Amino acid sequence: MDLTLLTIDAARSAVQERKTTALALTEAHYVRIKQEDGQIGAFLTLSKERALEQADRIDRMAAEGKTLPPLGGVPVGIKDVMSTRGLRTTAGSKILEKYIPPYDCTAVARMEAAGAVVLGKMNCDEFAMGSSNENSAYQPVRNPRDLSRVPGGSSGGSAAAVAADMAVVTLGSDTGGSIRQPASFCGVVGLMPTYGRVSRYGLIAFASSLDHIGPLAKTVKDAAIVLRTIAGRDPMDSTSADVPVPDYVAELGKPVRGMKLGVAKEYFGEGLDDEVRQAVEAAIDKFKSLGCEIVPVSLPHTPYAIPTYYLIATAEASSNLARYDGVRYSHRARGVKTPSEMYRRSRDEGFGAEVKRRIMLGTYALSAGYYDAYYLKAQKVRTLLTRDFDEAFRKVDAIVTPTSPTAAFRLGEKSNDPLSMYLADIYTVTADLAGIPGISVPCGETKEKLPIGLQILGKHFDEATILRVAHHYEHSFR
Ligand code: GLN
Repeated sequence: MDLTLLTIDAARSAVQERKTTALALTEAHYVRIKQEDGQIGAFLTLSKERALEQADRIDRMAAEGKTLPPLGGVPVGIKDVMSTRGLRTTAGSKILEKYIPPYDCTAVARMEAAGAVVLGKMNCDEFAMGSSNENSAYQPVRNPRDLSRVPGGSSGGSAAAVAADMAVVTLGSDTGGSIRQPASFCGVVGLMPTYGRVSRYGLIAFASSLDHIGPLAKTVKDAAIVLRTIAGRDPMDSTSADVPVPDYVAELGKPVRGMKLGVAKEYFGEGLDDEVRQAVEAAIDKFKSLGCEIVPVSLPHTPYAIPTYYLIATAEASSNLARYDGVRYSHRARGVKTPSEMYRRSRDEGFGAEVKRRIMLGTYALSAGYYDAYYLKAQKVRTLLTRDFDEAFRKVDAIVTPTSPTAAFRLGEKSNDPLSMYLADIYTVTADLAGIPGISVPCGETKEKLPIGLQILGKHFDEATILRVAHHYEHSFR
């Protein structure tokens, strides 16, 4: 049995039934990391001590014949924007190079309480700003399927680690597509839950009204298991919703026959690569053969999504990132003479180019005289985009689209052209703006053997439906 190829249930049962140990599983993943990660660059920090302690705790439970929790002994990775107590958390930024949080992010705490073994922290774009992982202040991540290509971003390390069998599952964050787009580029499953479904407590804020935590996994079922673990009200995050969490795993098997799936022409326009289009159209045909009804829907405000997102996300980022001033826990410049020089130099030395660009854009959009024209206007368009979805979901149960207009691009291909990089999010930002859930599942590959992702969007708090649709699609090939 290759211990790095197991799904969550297979890994947990193997430990439960004493066919292997959590320790052996953990070690096998560290061996794999040692072999592979030199060229991929998915991990920023390893937490071997913490992992071995947790694995040992699980092994003792198994030895005593106790029933293991749902993630008992399962090796996982955590995107480095989630705080981990006593374990360095950089957000991919030099400004937090030495930051050791005094507390755990709720999602991480819930994973560990469910038995997960945290292998380490995953590389990402700085403060989760980017679509290629090239904005990490440490190293770019390379796509395990083709090392000359990007893994997507900003959760590029989280996606690459799962694709290269260096972790069974990982947590990522999605503000404009950062779970789904890298999942699609690396050929894994990525789920963004409804806004408020998963607590953001301990997530380093990028754009608070858009930030979501969710899993990247090898199978839809694994994503369902992780969501069940991390979802639910948390008193530490006032925006986390008090909505019952269904048993996502039990719902996977329900039939999809008769379900109505929407297809919006706005997601098949200019800029969509031909091979991606063909793969998604083939997936739509597959759904027909599974007995789903395909219904045309219209999402007319979609063309405004990218500008709306880049106004709101940068405005919120400029405010959230004001706290990194060198006074408390971030990098502090040396040899400064006045407080204002300290703020300026600390921020100048600590932040990378993309983060600075966003802070400037966001500050501009929020400034007196421009607020109404930019920020307020963007908020109004956000409402229109949300209404588009409300309207569409009156007619359909879920909407299928491509996840990204292209497969993985080459390192360096877009890094000098922020606008073309921003367009990589064209099909994903809408769900973040509307607060609805979305999942990306692999749906074939290009001639060059690069993975293609299919996106399934759902109604607020209806992750169960999109997981079910994705699961049936995934299984239609077996
Ligand atoms: N690529 C988008 C951005 O750069 C989305 C990032 C994200 O979802 N965190 O803002």
